[in-house]
Amino acid sequence: MANEYKPLPYLASAQAVKAVTGKYQFTIQKKYGQNFLIDEHVLQDIVDAAGISEDDYVLEIGPGIGTMTQYLAYHARGVAAVEIDRMLIPILEDTLQGYPNVDIVHNDILKTDIAKLVEEKNGGQPIKVVANLPYYITTPIILALFESGIPAESITIMVQKEVADRMQTGPGSKDYGALSLAVQYYAKPEIITEVSPASFLPQPKVGSAVIRLTRHEKPPVDVKDEKLMFRLIRASFNQRRKTLANGLKNAGNLHFSKEEIEQAITALGKPLTVRGETLSLEEFAALANLLS
Ligand code: SAM
Repeated sequence: MANEYKPLPYLASAQAVKAVTGKYQFTIQKKYGQNFLIDEHVLQDIVDAAGISEDDYVLEIGPGIGTMTQYLAYHARGVAAVEIDRMLIPILEDTLQGYPNVDIVHNDILKTDIAKLVEEKNGGQPIKVVANLPYYITTPIILALFESGIPAESITIMVQKEVADRMQTGPGSKDYGALSLAVQYYAKPEIITEVSPASFLPQPKVGSAVIRLTRHEKPPVDVKDEKLMFRLIRASFNQRRKTLANGLKNAGNLHFSKEEIEQAITALGKPLTVRGETLSLEEFAALANLLS
């Protein structure tokens, strides 16, 4: 149940965003992927999809002027909001002043020790990640979240529609790639809703989608050397048009002989002409186990 002493969120409209940015003479920074949400239905969908309750501690990436942060703070026990843009910090201190359960952290999420932050703020207990991500660094942020090993129960994020499709898809689709495999190794992806450019100010040039990634308790495949599997995946998709054998032979950070590669592909039950983009996660794991 929401805490009745916290103010109701009030920033989800074009009028409110203009009033706040005007008051602080804030200029929206394209370089930081700033597209602020102005649609309360979308915010409610995100909070519902993440299942935020008073038991939850939330990590928000890129709070902007605090629009979603207010919603999260209203529903959750606590929120840590990591924002890169120094000019937004005084704005956040203003818009979030009625919410004592929010910690504003001025930092680049890619330079943040996320595991340490979670340990400090929530004693290392499970958290939920919620964000309307800056689109210029979506993939590195998602990978950093997984690789940090933080106890994230779920990650509910707004991303470019095309990127959401990439996370969900399997072999045979043009969208299938290293991101699909990384996400599916760590989590179960589900697209929650599509969001039109009209829900943001300024409007992005692309469609968006909310996707929820629920972390697997145990990865769906057994792999002896995770790092090797991801190197094989990257090498296969870096040279999509090449055969798997050539992709692996040409990769600078893999040092297998032609014979070793060909033997492993044959042992996998594939022809030597197979392309990496046709392999499933299970097959990449098996290939890594054969080569490790
Ligand atoms: N959450 C707000 C909303 O929904 O209205 C803003 C979302 S906006 C798409 C992305 C936010 O991420 C911006 O506030 C931007 O300044 C911030 N941001 C961009 N790069 C970042 C980074 N490396 N670390 C932390 N925040 C970042």
